[in-house]
Amino acid sequence: MCGIIGLVGRRGYHINQLLYDGLTVLQHRGQDAAGMMTEHEGRYHLRKSNGLVKDVFFKKHMQNLLGSIGIGHVRYPTAGSSSAAEAQPFYVNYPFGISLAHNGNLTNANEIKELLTSDHRRHVNTTSDSELLLNLLAMELHSRTHNVAIDGELHVDVNTIFSSVAALHKQISGGYACVSLISGYGILAFRDPNGIRPLIFGSREIDGETEWVVASESVAIHALGFEVVRDVEPGEAIFLTSAGQIFTQQCAEETHHSPCIFEHVYFSRPDSIIDGISVYQARLNQGQRLAERILEQFPNHDIDAVIPVPDSGRYAALQMAGALGVEYREGFVKNRYIGRTFIMPGQAMRKKSVRRKLNAIPHEFRGKNVLLVDDSIVRGTTSAQIVEMAREVGANKVYFASAAPPVRFPNVYGIDMPAVTEFIANGKTIDEIGEDIGADKLFYQTLEDLIEVTSINGEQSWDASCFNGEYVAGNVTQDYLDALEAARNDSAKTVKRLSDETIGLHNDE
Ligand code: AMP
Repeated sequence: MCGIIGLVGRRGYHINQLLYDGLTVLQHRGQDAAGMMTEHEGRYHLRKSNGLVKDVFFKKHMQNLLGSIGIGHVRYPTAGSSSAAEAQPFYVNYPFGISLAHNGNLTNANEIKELLTSDHRRHVNTTSDSELLLNLLAMELHSRTHNVAIDGELHVDVNTIFSSVAALHKQISGGYACVSLISGYGILAFRDPNGIRPLIFGSREIDGETEWVVASESVAIHALGFEVVRDVEPGEAIFLTSAGQIFTQQCAEETHHSPCIFEHVYFSRPDSIIDGISVYQARLNQGQRLAERILEQFPNHDIDAVIPVPDSGRYAALQMAGALGVEYREGFVKNRYIGRTFIMPGQAMRKKSVRRKLNAIPHEFRGKNVLLVDDSIVRGTTSAQIVEMAREVGANKVYFASAAPPVRFPNVYGIDMPAVTEFIANGKTIDEIGEDIGADKLFYQTLEDLIEVTSINGEQSWDASCFNGEYVAGNVTQDYLDALEAARNDSAKTVKRLSDETIGLHNDE
């Protein structure tokens, strides 16, 4: 998963600090790499590297990132791309000079690569599908503008840009939200016809001039002091000119809004509003419904306290405690200076780091029957360790609840998940999973309930593929899933990491 942002400020004012602040607010969407591309007086300025935003951009980089227009990206590690060379934005110099940052994943990347390299003799330098997207966009723009001179005058009609996006939609499959800086013209942003990945834009007026921002989540718009205008519609493109005008157009022939439900389970920040749904409210609703189900199954429950797995289990847990009529207690302290355990290579390393990351407060467990609540269970490493820790500090019974259903299928739309064989729910019943994590009882949200309580805006359709294996954008073949499985298992990741380190082209200046 990744976070993206694009900004058009007033002419004469540099937006580098706004981009930096926006990326920091989107940091939860990707901690692996960060990048920014700005444009000033006809020159692009780029800085990208592996690391957190605060570790990638130093004063010397910021001083170089001049201009009143730019895009930025934070990257989440995926099986295919963890080298600095694959940090975004990507850039091609022809036509015009185009850079692009992308959140999501293309499921027909191999076909697109073949088209670009064999038919159009384009050079592709990374394994990232974002580079393919950029080259395809460049190709489509070129085929519509090949008589246009680059002479500092604006010759390209915005409809030409939109028809290039329309052509792109016809060729690519998957989930994608993109921002692209077209030199001399402005920022193009577009969302896939299913609206799987979120994209929203906002504006503000300063001294009679309009500034624009487009970002993965509304929280970035608010944090920068802009007002949200609206979400980008599925299949829609918006074009923000360097002079501060906005154009919008539906570029897909057919759209079917099916956003990713996992954004509301785990990924997005709770203070974001996506397609009209408050992520916070969705998580409270998830807790409420799960508690109601527990009361149905376990009317005379003996739970003494509800304890969240911090941080992402807190919202559901808070609501569950109220609905169950028991106390909400904080029983685990999280060391905020440790990275996410999920991204550590190898199971042994992951196990150790759960312990380093979370520590139990014995007082909250001694002699009590506790219900531990997390937003989801993926590998089960966190849940198993946490149940063990609760017992070690004296819990009597340890129940566990997951606000999401069992994760059983690969996500192909940009959320990095382990291989299916590494999911704790793979091939197991709920009781077997409960036994595996060592819980006295395990409660999972059903998919029907998750969908019902998350559809606050009346949403009709969701991408819930990691729970049901249904891929809303189509074209997902078994071969594709097999290749993904091979790339995502731990041994593949270790080999990949080594080869990235050995052969990666680095852009560390
Ligand atoms: P585990 O079951 O040990 O693999 O970890 C589950 C925890 O990881 C849950 O608490 C989620 O908050 C979090 N999580 C779920 N999906 C992801 C993901 N794709 N990347 C990182 N963390 C995740």
